[in-house]
Amino acid sequence: MRVFKFGGASVKSADALKNVHHVLTLFAQDRLLIVVSAMGKTTNELEKIIETWYKNDASQCRRHCEAVAAYHLNIIHGLDLTADQKSDLAASTQVWLDMLGALVAQPPVASYNLHYDQIICFGELLATHIISHYLNFLGYKNTWIDARNYLITNHNHRNASINWQATQKALEPVAAQLRTQNVVTQGFIARANDSTLTTTLGREGSDFTASILAHCLQATQVTIWKDVAGVLNADPKLFAFAQKINELSYQEAISLTYYGASVIHPKTVHPLQIKNIPLEVRSFLEPTKLGTLIHEQAPAQLHIPCIILKKDQILLYFHSNDLAFIEEAQLATIYAHLQKYSIRAHLTQNTARYFAICTDNDGFKIQPFIADLHQIFDIKTTTNLHLLNIRHFQPQIIAELTANQNILMEHRSRTTAQFVLAQQTF
Ligand code: ASP
Ligand code: MG
Repeated sequence: MRVFKFGGASVKSADALKNVHHVLTLFAQDRLLIVVSAMGKTTNELEKIIETWYKNDASQCRRHCEAVAAYHLNIIHGLDLTADQKSDLAASTQVWLDMLGALVAQPPVASYNLHYDQIICFGELLATHIISHYLNFLGYKNTWIDARNYLITNHNHRNASINWQATQKALEPVAAQLRTQNVVTQGFIARANDSTLTTTLGREGSDFTASILAHCLQATQVTIWKDVAGVLNADPKLFAFAQKINELSYQEAISLTYYGASVIHPKTVHPLQIKNIPLEVRSFLEPTKLGTLIHEQAPAQLHIPCIILKKDQILLYFHSNDLAFIEEAQLATIYAHLQKYSIRAHLTQNTARYFAICTDNDGFKIQPFIADLHQIFDIKTTTNLHLLNIRHFQPQIIAELTANQNILMEHRSRTTAQFVLAQQTF
């Protein structure tokens, strides 16, 4: 059994769904567990529903609900189905849309994050409902299952942790089902242990779902279908020398995601590595071409440099109020606050005058973080920065990429060079 994961871009329109069907017909011999995320930008639209619902802005909330409904019904309309099939599918899809409408017709009563998960899950529920029916109509037989019956998590809404034991146990009937049927299910969504509440695995978490399912169900391989040829060593929009990497070791793939490579969700690789399940990243636009294979047999070391550029970074400089050095106790305070606000320090530096952190300039986190610490530290910030990570660097590529750049901070390990750059020249 293989796991296929289709992300939002691969199911964003009626034509995209036709292409998914085409891709699946190329693998008609394989037993597949198909994981799908919300269509196109639906998750963002659902976030707007949640926001306006919480603000009691009923008219805006309704407007966003209507946009979600129109988008999905329009996709159904564009499919290569008979008029009867389309109207059946539109009617059953409307049941989900009505459920969503009924939820936001009530005032919110619980925490934002809890409500968020109960609403945001509709993106994946709608997508899989439509796709599963569409494929069945075209003769690609499959069974739709609700991932929330099988993926069990803790109660940490919006960023829930998998309860591996409970999930493994819950998935037993799915293992049996997969002996005779292809199965379609949702990425990203799960259920809190001992409750009926929906939880989610964090934005872009569908890759991780595919990996969890593959791990628990002993898949032979996972394929993530993307709109790029595979994992590239740089963003081709920024760097002309970008090329596809044919093979990667698990460790290298984990390292690339650590430094910010966004082609796969950071949590995806580890559960596959444990079970030695290969992960393939492949283009749904050229489905017969091989992509990147992440597996144990890949060479441990990559021999080409990989460039990962993180944009919109901020440098936070901490000076102690009494002009003393920043020492262990203060560092402990800073790190405790980083944890409190879920801020990840990409790069840090301690000097005689200050302690500095380079991180994503996410105002929702950074502003309260600074407000919380400004009594203890004098905090200065510099914004509009880039963090340039070069794995497997050579002197020449560093020289090329940092020429004429204003470097505010740098760090080199044996494998990776990192530069915080002031100018937006890329
Ligand atoms: N639909 C969710 C999101 O956009 C999950 C995913 O796409 O992986 O974050
Ligand atoms: Mg998505």
